[in-house]
Amino acid sequence: MNRGRPYLGVLFQCCHVYSRIYLNRLGTAFSGHCPRCGARITIKAGKGGSKSRFWTAG
Ligand SMILES: [Zn+2]
Repeated sequence: MNRGRPYLGVLFQCCHVYSRIYLNRLGTAFSGHCPRCGARITIKAGKGGSKSRFWTAG
């Protein structure tokens, strides 16, 4: 089921750890959590917006 599912690579500044977050069911945002401390993040999925694949959060 995960095949082809869009994701973003995110640097969690809270723990300085890199991980992936995946597009939610609605396709409106990427959401996930820090693998170390569990901090949740959400990044809105832009339509025709940024082409950047990498984000920082925290
Ligand atoms: Zn963290």
